[in-house]
This record gives sequence, structure tokens and C-alpha cells, in this order.
Amino acid sequence: MDVHCTTCGEPWDVYHLRHDAIYETDLSHAEAKAWTGLSPQLKLLDRYREKFKAVGYEFGGSVLNVMRCPGCSKDAKPDSDKAAFKAGIVELLGDDEDGIAATMEDFRL
Ligand SMILES: [Zn+2]
Repeated sequence: MDVHCTTCGEPWDVYHLRHDAIYETDLSHAEAKAWTGLSPQLKLLDRYREKFKAVGYEFGGSVLNVMRCPGCSKDAKPDSDKAAFKAGIVELLGDDEDGIAATMEDFRL
């Protein structure tokens, strides 16, 4: 399953976002591995958001809500309609990452 970047539309594999993207950051292997076992909310503590941002990823309320990605051009801005739609899906489904992924895929978000 893929979800798409809100800014550039690049598709991102859901498994990659949940399990692999963290290894692109400068966290130690042990810490990155520990991250994959955290709850969806703890995964987006400020510390981790900063690490992701340093390698190009910015997320909304879920790691499946990609607001900006490494493929985005520097000055590109997120699509505000899509951003609002995706924020609503995440709010509705909360920690249900499978549900979020399936819903975003249904709407090609
Ligand atoms: Zn992007």
C-alpha cells in the first residue's frame, strides 16, 4: 500500500514509513529499532520529528500522513485541501495505522 506526499504527490510505501524510514535518520541502529516498536503517538515525539525533518520528512498526526518528503522541492508548499482531508482521516482513525493507510489509498491521498 502507498500513501502520497501532501506537497509533491510522491508515493511512499506504508511499510517503508513504518519500519525503514527511521534508519535514514542519524539515530543509532538500536534506537531506530526501538522506535519501530513505539506507539503511533510516541513515534512522533519532537525528538523524532526533528530527526525526520533533518532527512526531509515532515509528518502530520501520523507517520502515514507525509506532509513533506525527501522528494519535495525546497519551496513547494503542501496542498491545503489534501492536508485538511488527511488530517481529518488521522483524527478519525487515531492509532489505527492500517485503517489510515487503507483510507488514504482509497482516496489516493
Ligand atoms: Zn514530497
